[in-house]
Amino acid sequence: MPTVRDIERALYDWAPRALAADWDNVGLLVGDGAREVKRILVALDVTDWVADEAAARGAELIVAHHPVLNSHWHEMQSVVEDGGQGSLLRKLVRCDVAAVCMHTNLDAADGGVNDVLAQRLGLEGVFPLTEERIGRVGTLKREKSLEEFLSDVVQSLGCKGLRYRDGGRPVRKVAVGGGACAEYLPCALALGCDTFVTADVKYHDFLDARGVNLIDAGHFETEDPVCDALRAYLADKFPSLELVRSTSHTESVIQYYMK
Ligand SMILES: [Zn+2]
Repeated sequence: MPTVRDIERALYDWAPRALAADWDNVGLLVGDGAREVKRILVALDVTDWVADEAAARGAELIVAHHPVLNSHWHEMQSVVEDGGQGSLLRKLVRCDVAAVCMHTNLDAADGGVNDVLAQRLGLEGVFPLTEERIGRVGTLKREKSLEEFLSDVVQSLGCKGLRYRDGGRPVRKVAVGGGACAEYLPCALALGCDTFVTADVKYHDFLDARGVNLIDAGHFETEDPVCDALRAYLADKFPSLELVRSTSHTESVIQYYMK
């Protein structure tokens, strides 16, 4: 039976720690590395409801993308019942559920978050958007109208809707950046991309985007597809493991439309 550490090690073989941003916190973040694992729950985030799901399904380990603990985001000096992060960490420890998180290292890795996103959108000839391997650039088989491409994005990522700015160009050469990557728009422009698909785009980013179709397809929607790749990778490495894709963490922010 593999241990939590064996699984962490196998994930680092795919997405080496050295690829993670220096502010990031990746790897085994909660739990006992020596514990043997029979069942893993794979989810984009370790939320309160994902922790409940892991405990209910008898999973010893959650493998997730976003770090459950990162001092860059939350300064923590205590682990107490606070209805938030402290309560989540206490629950994981109480239920003896470990958490291994592969974040910016998995964004950058071959076959990771951004390659999976590029593949979902049908891009070919894919290469990194930046020297640090953030984002990807690829080309569609054929040129599409923006309208047709938007519909493809919604269908291939399972978005309920999206936000965009029409750059007045047809879609052929596309940059992608799973999660919040709007700051890399200048790199996409420098590489001659007509379209950039990312998430968490601010109002002023949309205003500043000139001559490029800028699409905010949602943070969850642009990154969650990597969970299928995580599951497939671990299933291949550890055939005896039971790998469960989270069913409680299925969408993030819900968009409301007037009917
Ligand atoms: Zn993210």
